[in-house]
Amino acid sequence: MTLIDELIALLGPERVRHHPLDLLVFSKDAGVTTGDVVAAVLPETAQEVAAVVRIARRYETPIVPRGAGTGLAGGAVPVSPGLLVVLTRLNEIHDVDEVGLTAWVGPGLINLDLSERLEPLGLHFAPDPSSQQACTIGGNVGTNAGGPHCLADGTTVAHIYAAEMVTATGEMVTVGSEAPDQPGLDLRAVVVGSEGTLGIVTRVLVRLTQNAPDVATLLIGFPTIEAAAAAVSGVIASGLIPAALEIMDQPMVKAVENFVHAGYPTAAGAVLLAEVTGTADTVASGVDVIRSVSETNDAIEIRVATDADERALLWKGRKGAFGAVAQAAPDYYLHDTVVPRTALVEVMTKIYEIGDRYELQMLNVFHAGDGNLHPLVAFDAKEPGMLDRVQEAATEMVRVSIDAGGSLSGEHGIGLEKRGLMNLVFSDIDLDAQARVREAFDDAGMMNPHKVLPEGSRCFDAKGVRL
Ligand SMILES: Cc1cc2nc3c(=O)[nH]c(=O)nc-3n(C[C@H](O)[C@H](O)[C@H](O)COP(=O)(O)OP(=O)(O)OC[C@H]3O[C@@H](n4cnc5c(N)ncnc54)[C@H](O)[C@@H]3O)c2cc1C
Repeated sequence: MTLIDELIALLGPERVRHHPLDLLVFSKDAGVTTGDVVAAVLPETAQEVAAVVRIARRYETPIVPRGAGTGLAGGAVPVSPGLLVVLTRLNEIHDVDEVGLTAWVGPGLINLDLSERLEPLGLHFAPDPSSQQACTIGGNVGTNAGGPHCLADGTTVAHIYAAEMVTATGEMVTVGSEAPDQPGLDLRAVVVGSEGTLGIVTRVLVRLTQNAPDVATLLIGFPTIEAAAAAVSGVIASGLIPAALEIMDQPMVKAVENFVHAGYPTAAGAVLLAEVTGTADTVASGVDVIRSVSETNDAIEIRVATDADERALLWKGRKGAFGAVAQAAPDYYLHDTVVPRTALVEVMTKIYEIGDRYELQMLNVFHAGDGNLHPLVAFDAKEPGMLDRVQEAATEMVRVSIDAGGSLSGEHGIGLEKRGLMNLVFSDIDLDAQARVREAFDDAGMMNPHKVLPEGSRCFDAKGVRL
């Protein structure tokens, strides 16, 4: 028997993909790296996931959990030939508690499907990555995903009460609990954002959020990106935390407008999309604050959506921004760094300067309220040397963000993409402590090895998998 034979005996041939074309499809996520896949399996229950792990362990084959593969940091891309465990068929919703505002869901459930299914109950799942039409709750847990509406509500970690997972030895454990304030270490927060390195999440207890009774969405044009960023700082300094504050620069506004025709002002140097939620009174006073701060910062156009359709159209522009870039070039590289809000203007200026120096076509759209920058480089990977140039520029952009007091990633994670940069923000002692935590869950280095921690971190990663 081979590994593939045993997996087929367990799951049947349709759920064990190892044809070269399947392996090609599964060898990438939405980032720029390509991996080495032994097979991709599609379990339908947590028990099947556990059985797959036990088989892979016997064959000393590393395991990489995968949701929809929309990750941008290479987290779901195996590097040492690995077995992909694709969780998309564990996509059920059960035990919706309308009073306690929780539900148990499968990790393969698509983010937007959860909120759409909860709509009749007046509830939703607050984290709303721009990829929410495709990405899974398991992937959101893996990366601690953010989204435009995480400014007021917090990122995924604030919306997960518990997670059931299969460990590297094939056992089932639950971290966190249904009860508030569980005693002991908060392992739930350790698992959220661990990028598939601690185990495979097979069920998640999510926090549900009530839909706000009232909402207002504003689209504000500014002469420059500096003015838009200053308005964001001004709004936060006023004491108002809006539901969302998103900025797009002029190249991005033009691409988006050409794509969705939402009436974005293409003559503006930058556009701010702001949203306030709450009771009618709270919303009205929030709109007044944003309007007044924007006027102080030379806004050239302020539009408040008049109905739900117009609101949806404005958001379609923001959420379709990355798709709109396909008009500019066949490939894109999306950076993800985070800086203190007060450093937005300084860092943006340096990022434009880096883009110009490397002669790259750059468009910007970002979660300005969180200081989470997403400079996007549109390019053609077939051009010789282009990808190297893009990646060198990316490293410089990360460095200027860190120099300004920021960090490596706001939401996409570290994966393969930024593991070599981890020592810019962590000391050897920090990295060693993180490696020890990882070994406490997985002493064989079987779960998503060669990810997150830099090459050479403790023995298992230096040598590859140690079983
Ligand atoms: C157009 C576009 C827009 C995006 N916008 C945003 C955004 O606004 N905010 C944001 O945060 N991200 C964004 N992303 C990145 C991406 O969508 C998120 O990181 C998302 O959470 C990944 O979900 P996924 O299901 O695709 O996970 P995958 O890419 O399949 O996996 C991501 C990571 O999670 C791990 N993982 C997946 N499932 C499990 C599981 N069940 N158990 C344990 N580990 C698991 C994987 O091993 C991997 O390390 C965007 C991506 C694209 C392409």
